Amino acid sequence: MKEARLYSEIPGGVRCDLCARRCVIHEGETGFCRVRHLEDGMLHTKVYGLIDGMAADPVEKKPLFHFAPGSHTFSISTSSCNFRCKFCLNYHSAHREHPVGREFSPHEIVDMAKDHDCQGITYTYTEPTIFMEIAHDTAKIAHEEGMYNTFVTNGYLTREAIDYISPYLDAASVNFKGSGNKGFYKEYMEVPKVEPIFEAMEYMSQKNIFIEITNLIIPQIGDFRDDTRELATWTVENLGSKTPFHITAFSPTYKITHLPRTPASVIEAHITIAKDAGLEYVYSGNIPGHDYENTICPNCGFKAVERYSVFLKRNNLDEEGKCPKCGTDLGIAGTEWMQIGPGSSRFF
Ligand code: SF4
Repeated sequence: MKEARLYSEIPGGVRCDLCARRCVIHEGETGFCRVRHLEDGMLHTKVYGLIDGMAADPVEKKPLFHFAPGSHTFSISTSSCNFRCKFCLNYHSAHREHPVGREFSPHEIVDMAKDHDCQGITYTYTEPTIFMEIAHDTAKIAHEEGMYNTFVTNGYLTREAIDYISPYLDAASVNFKGSGNKGFYKEYMEVPKVEPIFEAMEYMSQKNIFIEITNLIIPQIGDFRDDTRELATWTVENLGSKTPFHITAFSPTYKITHLPRTPASVIEAHITIAKDAGLEYVYSGNIPGHDYENTICPNCGFKAVERYSVFLKRNNLDEEGKCPKCGTDLGIAGTEWMQIGPGSSRFF
């Protein structure tokens, strides 16, 4: 176990300042995420370098459609999470009582990413906030090696955590479920409030971290159209109309196996709402072959990036990430890592 960062001493224990739960932890106790433990007055992380998942992925799989399109990213995770979603896809890792994994140093992780021809590293599968220390140390080395770093996050992190990681974090895919509906977050995810997610997104944006938003729609229990309108409107007003917005279909899993997959018609209804709110780049997710997987230039209608599901088929952008036909700025970031032309045969 290694000493954790971002905690404060308080009478009788410590307060963890990493995520918005701000757990008060007494001697011998562990925080809500089960991986931050107080021993001899010092907060420890149980997951520093204890990697339980890794893969080389297309960046589109995160999903990040407007950041370094066509690039490959080395994805890593540790056990556990600060949420308890009843429909978690990675529940075997995220809801584990005790962390497991194989030990790797930050240098070894960066070397593996390079060995797999990846242009960046993504901290994902479970919530990277709870493995912030290894993410931070790895991300610092990755930057020194000219690679990018991205988080796939539930957005429930503090300003202090953002201050800590922001010098090395290039982009974040912030994942909403049920359009951020407060009652849904309490009942199905054990999350007491959603406001910290919005505060974190605003602050990440101020810190020049590129943001894409994903919103998982679950039929019957998580299909909140007014909340999608609110979320999309907030995004236009606070992050800008070019912020990519992914509306993703649910597949039955974990404790929610009694509900069907989200029908395409429901996803399309949410897409219409998000576009009507002013968002320029709204995508469908988890419906392979759907019309809303490509990036279409809003000015001339040219198919600037062609995809199938989370795989890039062809990147037609110019070197600045603009529409090659009319020069429109399509809000593409991370162009220094972008791969122009056909997608990699490794994945497609
Ligand atoms: S990371 Fe969040 S859940 Fe874990 S101990 Fe800290 S405040 Fe609690």
